[in-house]
Amino acid sequence: MPELPEVETAVRALRPRVQGEALLKVEVFDPRLGLDPAALALPAPVRALRRRGKYILLELPGKTLVIHLRMSGRLVWGEAPPPGRVRLALHFPGGAVYLVDRRRLATAEVAQFEPRLGPEPFGDLSWLPGALKRSRMPIKNWLLDQGKIAGIGNIYAAEILYRAGIDPRRPAADLTEGEAQRLAQAIPQVLEEAIAGKGTTLPDGEYRQPSGELGGFQFRLSVYGRAGEACPGCGAPIARVKIAGRSTYFCPSCQR
Ligand SMILES: [Zn+2]
Repeated sequence: MPELPEVETAVRALRPRVQGEALLKVEVFDPRLGLDPAALALPAPVRALRRRGKYILLELPGKTLVIHLRMSGRLVWGEAPPPGRVRLALHFPGGAVYLVDRRRLATAEVAQFEPRLGPEPFGDLSWLPGALKRSRMPIKNWLLDQGKIAGIGNIYAAEILYRAGIDPRRPAADLTEGEAQRLAQAIPQVLEEAIAGKGTTLPDGEYRQPSGELGGFQFRLSVYGRAGEACPGCGAPIARVKIAGRSTYFCPSCQR
């Protein structure tokens, strides 16, 4: 499932192709999307393409097309539809952005307002320790809650907690000041490294950059998807537990 680094990678790759260009035409191939191209009043110039949390915002004059990739969506740049289940095409003078989405759960809608989301996980995170003190949720679930902090999903929550040396099952409010500060450092570090690596392509091969290339951060995962393998820090086997029904990977000796 695409998280912030995968969405940011797509936005950075597509921005020079579409920002300042005219969106000429939108084709909807899947009625389940519920998007009416007439609502976009095309052609129209793209004022900006940006990311907020895991959302992609294509800003037109007075309107925003809000795309969320959900489980299996990805954006592909090309001159002809790529293989796979293409649900949407956004046509520009130099080519098109295609939404490919095997499970058909991605959304694209014309919305005036941004969804309600917690702060971005970059910049000044000095608010974080105080926010953690107000929640008894397991810290991993806290990181996944888009209303608390935007953009983090199952892969990067595991990697962030490993980097910070914190057991994912601990209640957020029980973290010490020092642990909360380690977390505030690990969050942007891990996400920035994953963006630099162009995202994570898991063994299912589903996530690709808009160019069709794989991501590169899968080679740098410390714990995610590595149950039973040796922890890169201490050599102990990496554990997998379920928290709120989702697989959670961690090192029981490095993460306390
Ligand atoms: Zn370890």
